Amino acid sequence: MNSEGKLGAKAQIDFHCLDSENCDGVVKFNLAEICDEDFQAVCPKCHRAYELDEALRDKLSRMMKLVAAIRDAEDILGDSSVAVTVAGAKEVKIPYALLLTRLNTLITLNFGDKKVDFHLWIEPSSPETFR
Ligand SMILES: [Zn+2]
Repeated sequence: MNSEGKLGAKAQIDFHCLDSENCDGVVKFNLAEICDEDFQAVCPKCHRAYELDEALRDKLSRMMKLVAAIRDAEDILGDSSVAVTVAGAKEVKIPYALLLTRLNTLITLNFGDKKVDFHLWIEPSSPETFR
């Protein structure tokens, strides 16, 4: 079984090329790819290579486990809601499913000495799950 199969979902990470003054490229990679120690993310425009350090790899791999756990609980989460109190003290129930599929996760992590916003895109294991 490949790592994507284990994850049961496609989880893609992207971030803006750190050479933002000269390049507007968006670097993308699959979260499962970071298991490979020699993994490098490459900017599709300027071809700058990004090596992920140990700390970053560790965080992303824990993120991957989290995604896998969410996948595993997909059928439970499909029936769960988060209650959010909005202005006017009304309570709105937001299904987890909506949170997971409609909002893309933004993680800010240290990349070398820079703080970088990583977008995490998760595809449900089945398009039928969150309907
Ligand atoms: Zn670039």
